[in-house]
Amino acid sequence: MDLEKNIAKVQEKIVKCVKDAGRKVEDIHLIAVTKYFGVEINEQLYDLGLREFGENRADIFLNKVEKLKGHQDIIWHFIGNLQRRKVKQVINKIDYFHALDSLALAAEIEKRAEQKVKCFVEVNISGEESKHGFKADEVKTFIAELKNFNKIEVVGLLTMAPLSASQEELHQYFGHLKTLQEKISSLQIVYAPCTEVSMGMSQDFEIALLEKASYIRVGTALYS
Ligand SMILES: *Cc1c(COP(=O)(O)O)cnc(C)c1O
Repeated sequence: MDLEKNIAKVQEKIVKCVKDAGRKVEDIHLIAVTKYFGVEINEQLYDLGLREFGENRADIFLNKVEKLKGHQDIIWHFIGNLQRRKVKQVINKIDYFHALDSLALAAEIEKRAEQKVKCFVEVNISGEESKHGFKADEVKTFIAELKNFNKIEVVGLLTMAPLSASQEELHQYFGHLKTLQEKISSLQIVYAPCTEVSMGMSQDFEIALLEKASYIRVGTALYS
């Protein structure tokens, strides 16, 4: 496992896609998804210059935060489904929450958060039965329902494409999420600036970047 080489490869692809799409590299956040490994991999990635990490299991996340607390500039992204009973322990230690998918979860965050939490609303853009998240036509209503939640800031939308999607379908799904994000952003809701899109994983981040992803969540590609 040559982390340095793998990071360089991913970054090279990012640069190329961003150029092709007429965008700026500075506008792209590479979240290194470290859920597959122990804290020593986070340490190595940190030493290689990465600062944004994605985790999806509360217990493992908390353990890593404790061990890495000397590195104040780490940005922690919680990218998985968060059980309501774990919100209390986790919510004040993360910088971004990528999986806001119900009003009940929003209410728990509201109750437990000590300050505003930057959230991505999860959208099931493909409409697959097995996926979490709101359908595209439910997102606006959900965001309106967050009006009285002072601790929730909707910074953007997140989606995960089906594993089986073709290249063409990936363009469609990601393009659709971007359009939806722009529509919500144009409503100028104070608590929902909604300027960001979190989409693209190891398999599909290049297409996501061409469709204007601003946060990509890459795991496997860093560890091959
Ligand atoms: C695991 C995970 C990723 C990373 O997936 P890879 O295919 O390993 O890049 C991205 N997003 C979410 C929500 C995940 O759970």
